[in-house]
Amino acid sequence: MKEVLKELGIKEINPGTSTGKIFFSEGELIDSFSPVDGSKIGSVKSSTLADYNKALFAAKEAFLYWRNVPAPKRGEIIRQFGDKLRKYKPALGKLVSYEMGKSLQEGLGEVQEMIDICDFAVGLSRQLYGLTITSERPQHRMMEQWHPLGVVGIITAFNFPVAVWSWNFCISAVCGNTHIWKPSEKTPLCSIACQNIWNEVAAENNLPEGISCIVNGDYRVGEYLTSDTNVPLISATGSVRMGKMVAQKVGARLGRTILELGGNNAIILTPSADMKIAMTGIVFGAVGTAGQRCTTTRRLIIHESIYDEVKSKLSHAYSQLRIGNPLDERNHVGPLIDKQAVNAYLNAIERAIAEGGKVLVPGGVLEGKGYESGCYVKPCIIEANPNMEIVKHETFAPILYIMKYKTIEEAVEIQNNVPQGLSSAIMTVNMREMEYFLGPNGSDCGIANVNIGTSGAEIGGAFGGEKETGGGRESGSDSWKAYMRRQTNTINYGNSVPLAQGIKFDF
Ligand code: NAD
Repeated sequence: MKEVLKELGIKEINPGTSTGKIFFSEGELIDSFSPVDGSKIGSVKSSTLADYNKALFAAKEAFLYWRNVPAPKRGEIIRQFGDKLRKYKPALGKLVSYEMGKSLQEGLGEVQEMIDICDFAVGLSRQLYGLTITSERPQHRMMEQWHPLGVVGIITAFNFPVAVWSWNFCISAVCGNTHIWKPSEKTPLCSIACQNIWNEVAAENNLPEGISCIVNGDYRVGEYLTSDTNVPLISATGSVRMGKMVAQKVGARLGRTILELGGNNAIILTPSADMKIAMTGIVFGAVGTAGQRCTTTRRLIIHESIYDEVKSKLSHAYSQLRIGNPLDERNHVGPLIDKQAVNAYLNAIERAIAEGGKVLVPGGVLEGKGYESGCYVKPCIIEANPNMEIVKHETFAPILYIMKYKTIEEAVEIQNNVPQGLSSAIMTVNMREMEYFLGPNGSDCGIANVNIGTSGAEIGGAFGGEKETGGGRESGSDSWKAYMRRQTNTINYGNSVPLAQGIKFDF
């Protein structure tokens, strides 16, 4: 790991504020411990309000320059950033895996997602289209333009410590904004590594400081951003609890938000499902990233006619899972992020049992050699009733609740009957069931898949969810519009001033 840290420019103690090539910070130290083996990887000095204000000043200054750079030229810079990420992919992927605890494959996949979003943003930089609209007045023309917003605040969660920032940054940067990123205090070193990679691109192109800034620290540093009227848009990814606080703070000053919050994702397993496809989708969805994806499969709604068969298939599949060091590619399941997460997992199991849940595959914390960090837990399956309170709650751990349904209408009702609305899936080859699930009476989630699990979205689509998931959309499709302001222009190229709606005003 020493070499990885060296390659990414990470020191033992790192200033956590940066406006580009300048790194500074005077706040308290945040130590970053790896959930893989419990060892300290390094420390980051958190940002004080004075540090934050320096970053804000740089971002505001940089905006005056960056908004005048033609969008395709901004895209060219992001193209170069994508190339740098290709170079650093092995090292950055490893750091993501070591600091967050996801498998090396997933760590590398996260960096690949950054590269993909760079490519997407490069193309987008030539496609920030507005509309032309016919005017009701003679010799008039109407059009829409999209302009950059200013300084965009990005707050991210620990579980995607680099990709979620890049979804926001790369798209927003080609739109002409500048940025202040507040990463999770649980994965601060990943943010330093990203900033160092960006800095190389910025230096090679003589870009001003401030196009990408980072500030580090806990929710208090996040609040510098959310309460700042200089920051017109906050894109926040994290728990529903956090989203509610951010929405209130930003809403109180009539700022804009993109909220990407918790999920409680279900798969409906129908009798016509291709069982091989279904089992892969279910098991990967439920135990991948140790259940710490916003799109993790948390509920499995099974048709009663195949319930017993599925139960035994699941028990068998879970017995094959290898839990251990995520840097070892033979393992399927790595650790939870920290002991607090382990306690939340244990409490949820206890609550589920107290509410009448029946354990199918028991959970528990692993001990002994290889599990010294105390963060490795067993993926667990609980037979549940959809009305149990704990089933409606997102526990960020590998707990899968399974339940029965009789009709497709009932299955969809169970699926929708939770406060969250991120991802959902149906396993079926029956087109009537599929269309019902995808139609207006079907899934109420932002993502609805067929014969694919709930996790692992592609960057080309708009990503996000409804209800308590926050309603935001990021990444592909036309998500870029959220990072820009729309301006309607009416141009009179005639010799008179006809008013709209035929109103006369002569003097
Ligand atoms: P968290 O809510 O604890 O923290 C997320 C970020 O918000 C951190 O940077 C934290 O410092 C900051 N924060 C917390 N309170 C804040 C406040 N009052 N003001 C400003 N900033 C504040 O979440 P976490 O434990 O890091 O991540 C797990 C959660 O994130 C899960 O609920 C998961 O579903 C969700 N998530 C959602 C998506 C999505 O796209 N929908 C993606 C990844 C993670």
